[in-house]
Amino acid sequence: MTKLALHWKILIGMALGVLFGAFLSFIPNGSEFIKNYIKPFGTIFINLLKLIAMPLILASLIKGVSDLKDISKLSQMGGRTILTYLITTLTAVTIGLILVNIIQPGKSISVETRNELVEAYSTNTEEKQAAAAKQKEAGPLNALVEMVPSNIFLATSNNRNMLQVIFFALFFGIGMILLPFKKIKPIKKFFDSFNAVILKLIDLIMLGAPYGVFALLAALVVEAPSLELFQALALYAITLLLGLVAMIILYIIVVRVLTGKKIDFFMKGIAPAQLLAFSTSSSAATLPVTMECVEENLGVDEEVASFVLPIGATINMDGTSVYQGVAAVFIAQAFGLDLNLSAQLGIVFTATLASIGTAAVPSAGIVMLVIVLAQAGIPEAGLALIFAIDRPLDMCRTIVNVTGDAAVSMIVGKSIGKLK
Ligand code: ASP
Repeated sequence: MTKLALHWKILIGMALGVLFGAFLSFIPNGSEFIKNYIKPFGTIFINLLKLIAMPLILASLIKGVSDLKDISKLSQMGGRTILTYLITTLTAVTIGLILVNIIQPGKSISVETRNELVEAYSTNTEEKQAAAAKQKEAGPLNALVEMVPSNIFLATSNNRNMLQVIFFALFFGIGMILLPFKKIKPIKKFFDSFNAVILKLIDLIMLGAPYGVFALLAALVVEAPSLELFQALALYAITLLLGLVAMIILYIIVVRVLTGKKIDFFMKGIAPAQLLAFSTSSSAATLPVTMECVEENLGVDEEVASFVLPIGATINMDGTSVYQGVAAVFIAQAFGLDLNLSAQLGIVFTATLASIGTAAVPSAGIVMLVIVLAQAGIPEAGLALIFAIDRPLDMCRTIVNVTGDAAVSMIVGKSIGKLK
């Protein structure tokens, strides 16, 4: 198997994982066996990826910014990055809203099914509501305040604080640029080497990827909810998947038009990261591989990739944005609420902010959805409607989150002459 490209190995691992999970769920105690003896290896794999995410952000951003040599280069790249991210996010919410208004999946849910789902998943809903309430309590500028850590060691101790670590890394990098090279030479060398070691560790972790995704998918199959639930929510899932596919097509077109790169170059180059995004449901956990794909396969200069991607993994979530638009209106439809244009524009606004604030970890999107629902006056209990199938859809939206970051890094790279 050594000659096979990584994405093929991961795909084989996924397929075998699904088959193994399906097979063992028919055998007495098979599910127990997977939970006790297979799933832990998947968890270890995700932990290894998460373990490397924080040091990677720190090392690659400090190295990336300090490589820039002058502040004007940084502000040029920063401005383009943020603007492009904002445009893709707004487009994503809008596509989601258009599709959900045309297809109207919520209208197909009967009142009985709705009540059953709300009943069955009410405890999970309460948990997510409590998490969202904490976020909301703090006021409108809280996101800004939370970006600035009061203690960098505390900030790095929690993977949810990536934005704080990004802030520190940028700040630190700026400090380095402003000093004469002679003064920063040792620390520059340190971060360059630190970065190289982290990249090596990622290579090592990825050797385990096919086995890791095997374990993750096997566990997912035995823990999946019943088929009937999937059927009741099929139209909602289809609407969302259409939106996600639309985003991928959009990236392909934009990349083709703005960078001249062909579809298969882009899609093949980013495939390993997409597969990992699918299996881990976390763009933060996938970040190391996204960076490798973007630099090595897509030809984006390290200077750009190490700046654009860590920021993108944290603030640019186009898949999550499509999801927030679709899910909010779906729930409103299921509850028989008609949302007028201004309510839908409100959703565009809050969903954009919510997707920026969403942590790059599994199920973070559904927590932020509570805020979108509350803002639009849609019953929060409606979260229970989509709970059953949120995980597989989370896996799919994470693919789009990661693909969007890669596309933007190519666009920004091209615009400043840093794309091979
Ligand atoms: N799981 C997604 C991500 O990490 C976030 C979400 O839940 O939408 O990109």
